[in-house]
Amino acid sequence: MKEKEKSQETWPGAGNSQPADAAGRSVSEASAAGLGRAEGLDTPALILLVDDQALVAESVRRMLAQETDLCLHYCADAHDAPRVARELKPALILQDLVMPGIDGLALVRRYREDPVTRDTPVIVFSAREEAETKREAFSAGANDYVVKLPDRVELVARIRYHSHAYIVQQQRDHAFRALRESQQQLIASNTSLNVLNQKLEEATRAKSEFLANMSHEIRTPMNGVLGMAALLKDTLLDEEQQDFVETIRHSSEALLGIINDILDFSKIEAGKMGIEKHPFSLRQCVEEVLELLAPKMSEKGIDLGQEVDEDVPDHLLGDVTRLRQILLNLAGNAVKFTTKGEVLVRVSLAGAGRSEGGHRVELQFSVRDTGIGIPADRMERLFQAFSQVDCSTTREYGGTGLGLAICKRLAELMSGKMWVESVAGRGSVFHFVLPFNACDAQPSRTVDVVPLLAGKRLLLVEDNESSRNHVDRCATAWGMEVTAVATGSDALSRMIQGERFDLAIVDHQLPEIEPVKLVESVRRLPHGERLPIMLLSSIRSRALDAAWTDRGVRSVAYKPIRSRQLLQSLCRALDLEAPERRGVAGGEINHELAATKALRILVADDSPVNQKVTQSMLRRMGYAPRIVLNGAEALQAVMEEHFDLVFLDVQMPVMDGYAAARAIRERFGSSPRPWLVALTANALQGDRELCLQAGMDDYVSKPVRPKELEAAIFRAATQTAPPGRRAA
Ligand code: ADP
Repeated sequence: MKEKEKSQETWPGAGNSQPADAAGRSVSEASAAGLGRAEGLDTPALILLVDDQALVAESVRRMLAQETDLCLHYCADAHDAPRVARELKPALILQDLVMPGIDGLALVRRYREDPVTRDTPVIVFSAREEAETKREAFSAGANDYVVKLPDRVELVARIRYHSHAYIVQQQRDHAFRALRESQQQLIASNTSLNVLNQKLEEATRAKSEFLANMSHEIRTPMNGVLGMAALLKDTLLDEEQQDFVETIRHSSEALLGIINDILDFSKIEAGKMGIEKHPFSLRQCVEEVLELLAPKMSEKGIDLGQEVDEDVPDHLLGDVTRLRQILLNLAGNAVKFTTKGEVLVRVSLAGAGRSEGGHRVELQFSVRDTGIGIPADRMERLFQAFSQVDCSTTREYGGTGLGLAICKRLAELMSGKMWVESVAGRGSVFHFVLPFNACDAQPSRTVDVVPLLAGKRLLLVEDNESSRNHVDRCATAWGMEVTAVATGSDALSRMIQGERFDLAIVDHQLPEIEPVKLVESVRRLPHGERLPIMLLSSIRSRALDAAWTDRGVRSVAYKPIRSRQLLQSLCRALDLEAPERRGVAGGEINHELAATKALRILVADDSPVNQKVTQSMLRRMGYAPRIVLNGAEALQAVMEEHFDLVFLDVQMPVMDGYAAARAIRERFGSSPRPWLVALTANALQGDRELCLQAGMDDYVSKPVRPKELEAAIFRAATQTAPPGRRAA
């Protein structure tokens, strides 16, 4: 062993009284073994003793021999001490004060100067208890002062106290550094996440805008296709050509449906779907939905019914367009996935109370079908965008998988919720609950007693329960005395027993006795011979109706049953004049009124196809519109010539529709000016708001349909605001 190494020895605790050198352990090994670093309290703390007297070292070693948590390293050469301390990083230094050739206090100062040992606790070993030396030792940076050799218990206690405090401090510093490091890492990853997020948001926005633009671009030529098909349909065509035109129309309508879904979805995703609030009739909304689905329903031979509970108020404040959209989608799906049985739209009161806005109600809508149902493991995917229950290439039903996702989000946008119950193979019920403000505190009766019908005895023969209940409810509300039965034999036996009726309503499909046979049997009875009979039918066919008329059926009401139509058919069957329905918005348009006004119409549109469509439609309605190519030309035209009505395409070169509307308003000031109607292709932004903000009086969305054009002309003639626009 070299001299230098001999001046140092490590003695671990745990009763090992042999110098460490005997075990062949070097200084650096001791340190690497973790004995020197105070990483944890479970590794022995390394104590460095610096003293020139080997005897003292031996005494200390003995004192610490039993302490397994302490490990002593002895350094006899004081000159070497700073280096050893720096390398071993002990948990405590026991420093002799008086040594040959070197001052113990100077060493303490050197420990304090070195960043590695700056905080290492130092216990100064002194020969005497001297106040002055003590003071100097403490001011040099010592942590404790012991007169050697102290009692074993005292020494161990002091060593433990200081080394423990130091180790804890080290651990705290270590944890703090680690914390700071991870904090910095967190900040760094947050920053990159923010950057990523921003990129993602930009990408989403770009995607939404792309979808919106694309839909807009597709809608414009669709205006041509649909418009021309509508015009073509009214020309002289043979049967085959009629069929072709119908196919073009159906396919374009289907394409438009898909585009609308994509547009709606991107609007919702971009947070640009606004929810409006205006008064509407709930029952009318439900009936409109049923009416739209009537052709599909009769084609498939299923029943489609409604049940709106009596305590549900009718006049509500809310977004009827979105409500109709949800109902149409759910009921449309129900019809699509049902081949046998029925689809029922139910509305019930889920809650009521008062709010700032007046009377508040929560309505539960349930669309029930007896169709294919949904397997339990597919339920949760149902409301996800672009997902369909059957994704196979052999799937039977088309669709984009967007409908339900849109419905659910729309319901949530209106502060409602949506869920589904279903049993595969048995059918499904889609529920949603929406809050509304009711216009009247009391549930308003939409059907009032009709004096002409009051007291009339009605025999209702209908096997479908929901349809029977619906007709029963309506007729009872009109004041009729209703006897409702489910079968022809029940109806017949009542009549045979002598029950008398003023009118019979017979469903066109009945179990047991066929309706034709039933009518024939009724006619053979003495008080059945002249009994007025009305038919309920899901099939609209002139030939069929004629066949029934021959059998003495006076009128037909088509399913799905709508109260207004039912009332008219009832009155027709009884040879009575149907009363005007009161109090519900959205009556038939009196087109004559608009036409007699002989309006002067200007159309500004840059697309030759669209010009042709609008012009041809207007010509058919009896107008001779003037056509211009952009907003600037429109402005010039209205200054030169008198126009009552200007249709302004929104996107045009030179001057767009918005700018033209603003300019025309400005030029005319307070003097009478033409009525301004925007032609929009439904871009991403709230089109309606933009048009009205720009000073338009009304708007018509593309593809333009003759009915909508007529309605807009009617509103122009009567100067009424478009539906949904709050009165200024
Ligand atoms: P799609 O346009 O494909 O019909 P939806 O979002 O409306 O998109 O519906 C998604 C899927 O949910 C449908 O493809 C169908 O598999 C299932 N689904 C929706 N409604 C019903 C229903 N009433 N009965 C059975 N399955 C349904």
